[in-house]
Amino acid sequence: MPVSDIWDLIGKPGSRWQIPTPALVLDLDAFEANIAAVAEFCRANGRTFRPHAKSHRSVSVARRQIASGAVGQGCAKLGEAEALAEGGIDGLLVTSPVVTDDGIARLMALNARLDDLSAVVDHPVVLARIGDTAAASGRRLKLVVDLDVGLHRTGAATPEAAEALIHAILAHPALEFAGVQAYAGHLMHVAGTPARRAALEAAMAPLAALRGRGIPQPLTTGGGTGSLVIDTEMGLLTELQPGSYPFMDSQYADVWVTAGEPAPYRSSLFVQTTVISANHPGLATVDAGYKAFATDAEVPRILAGAPPGTTYFFYGDEQGGLTLSADTALAIGAVITCSVPHCDPTVNLYDTYHVVQGDRLVDIWPIEARGRSQ
Ligand code: PLP
Ligand code: MN
Repeated sequence: MPVSDIWDLIGKPGSRWQIPTPALVLDLDAFEANIAAVAEFCRANGRTFRPHAKSHRSVSVARRQIASGAVGQGCAKLGEAEALAEGGIDGLLVTSPVVTDDGIARLMALNARLDDLSAVVDHPVVLARIGDTAAASGRRLKLVVDLDVGLHRTGAATPEAAEALIHAILAHPALEFAGVQAYAGHLMHVAGTPARRAALEAAMAPLAALRGRGIPQPLTTGGGTGSLVIDTEMGLLTELQPGSYPFMDSQYADVWVTAGEPAPYRSSLFVQTTVISANHPGLATVDAGYKAFATDAEVPRILAGAPPGTTYFFYGDEQGGLTLSADTALAIGAVITCSVPHCDPTVNLYDTYHVVQGDRLVDIWPIEARGRSQ
């Protein structure tokens, strides 16, 4: 089937198994249940939420999250924010520091185009340069002070350093102080809720200290899929920015499952691959290798299409191997469903989501910000 004919498959029974592979497949029912669960949780607990687009990089997903009640989207990179803005998405928070002259100029261009843009800052020299550029642009820019809560990736190192940044923003006529970001990304995958809660309570102490200093903070934003409930119970964040929850990759599901807890969201994202060679007993070759999965987490699990006990190994850039028990075999052309170990870097390998319901392909969503990491 020519790939150009794929739209002809939409809605047809069995069409899911005719998608050209390797393909990123999204189970619509599981995805929608996850979108609704977080929206309902945030509504019931009086929190705003700004899901992180780094996980999905797609206007279609962003629209659905905003329709569910999200105030906008977090963006790790300017390119991601630009792709969403091109798709009509507003309410963007750039969650990594923008430091180059070119980047700051692009930030101002985005600020001119959107009703609601904010960006984090973690250094006074960068803050001053952003302030000068905002003044020259003639439009105020909202800045969020990034506070390090133990990840040490970005963020002011102490509450005192963060407070100095807040005062610099408040004193600058072209800047507006929009709030504080505190993201404890190193703790999202601590297995078991009690252990994760204890680790987060200790890590978030700098935010508690900053909040205790009496400076009005219009917003405190942070957290991820692993801390959504704990952050809400701790009460330090007013806005939550989970990214992975629509997909619930297997690495994330294990945070609960390995501790004997039920995973709070359903795994909705899979890679579908086809057997292309099977000339040896107990072995089959599929068309999904390093270019089909991020490789930082566990190896993909075989979820459907092969006998129980079949395992996957990487066979190189373009292929994977399936190890079968000796008395079983797979036919050439068999379609296999694999888990996605880590969603964000896997999504970034694909141009589209193939959206499925049961055995039907029901839609195709572009991943507009795929590769937009600059
Ligand atoms: N916020 C920031 C600043 C992030 O870097 C990330 C992901 O790395 C998230 C939120 C989303 O986190 P998660 O995918 O764990 O839900
Ligand atoms: Mn991730």
